[in-house]
Amino acid sequence: MAHQALIAKGDIAKHVSGARLWNRLMELAQFGALPKGGVNRQALSGEEIAARACLVRWAKTIGLEPSTDAAANLFLSYRGKEPALPPVLIGSHIDSQPTGGKFDGALGVLAALESVEAIIANRVRPRRTVEIVAWMNEEGSRFAPGMMGSAVFSGARKLSDILTVRDAAGVSVESELHRLLTAEPQLRQRPFGMKPAAFLEIHIEQGPVLENKNKSVGIVTGIQGKRTFRVQVDGEEAHAGTSPRIARRDALVAAIDVVHALQNAMWDPEDVVRFTVGMFNVTPNAPSVVPARVVFSIDLRHPDVATLRKLGDAIPEVCQAARVRCDISVKELLHDPPLEFPKSIRHMIQSVAQALGVSWMNIASGAGHDARYLHYVCPTGMIFIPCRNGISHNEAESVQETHAADGTRVLAEATFTLANTI
Ligand SMILES: [Zn+2]
Repeated sequence: MAHQALIAKGDIAKHVSGARLWNRLMELAQFGALPKGGVNRQALSGEEIAARACLVRWAKTIGLEPSTDAAANLFLSYRGKEPALPPVLIGSHIDSQPTGGKFDGALGVLAALESVEAIIANRVRPRRTVEIVAWMNEEGSRFAPGMMGSAVFSGARKLSDILTVRDAAGVSVESELHRLLTAEPQLRQRPFGMKPAAFLEIHIEQGPVLENKNKSVGIVTGIQGKRTFRVQVDGEEAHAGTSPRIARRDALVAAIDVVHALQNAMWDPEDVVRFTVGMFNVTPNAPSVVPARVVFSIDLRHPDVATLRKLGDAIPEVCQAARVRCDISVKELLHDPPLEFPKSIRHMIQSVAQALGVSWMNIASGAGHDARYLHYVCPTGMIFIPCRNGISHNEAESVQETHAADGTRVLAEATFTLANTI
């Protein structure tokens, strides 16, 4: 990339309006607003449909062309001088957790909109088209797993695979996609298979590092790897009053031993390993019945490929050794290796931050993001901004307006640079 000559004289950044961005963040947060200041705007909900309509309205005001695909990814395009070239994509998601905050995802989409508005104000059309994107169902709280839209866009999953996924009320992705797409008859439908020239995503850190180090921006080095498992422990139901200890095959007692053994096996004095049992279902879950079955989840994450492999591979053995008198089965559901974003993109973002005088540091992402899927399709980079006390997936999630503006200035210049040089 011969972008050095073009880097950040601040021509674009000076048109970024922190106040306009902030007002839009507050306005978008009205869709699905909760009493404690958070947001419930889950994927493909009525609240998300309304928020999309609002985004499309804003985009049309500044001359962008909206379109969507069959997975309900939303695109807002600003045409470049050479529109036949693959575009530069920038964005994130606008769906939220059921008790989410105002900034997780929304910042990435609205900062992208602000960036394009700044590029337009500079009156020099970039070579490539710039497209803002809001990916469908990043959070996965209503329809699991998350990052559905970016997975289908990137070819990691087939559209047909996600259509049959149902929420807790039994409603399918297929019927909600149909509802959403019928609510937007004016949007142009686009096919899958477009390969972008690059993708950038700005997001809140969702951790405390940037705040503690007093930096405005984090340049994300990569995303740690993740493996998930489902463990089923089978014992036998028995009467709580009559069944003696010797006769019991208590699935709950066995499961507790197994979780304890796993906790020990995953112990890391340096606290880099992330090991979580977040779901634990007991059957029949009745006060006077010895539990017959426990199903629990394992979420294991680590930034190093070899360590993640070693720890994850040990899980079935640890479970077998600790199962006492019950049967146990371990099923791996997901194995996403750690990834590292290309140095060329990271260095370009770094030069931009430096030129703009925005304080920055390198940082690894502990959470997954849509950028994970885009990474395998095109050169991809991420920018983090600090959030208060690292709190996220929580109504109390909060950021400073100046950090949001600084991050957006970096994003805007980086986007313009990529659209002209990559
Ligand atoms: Zn997010």
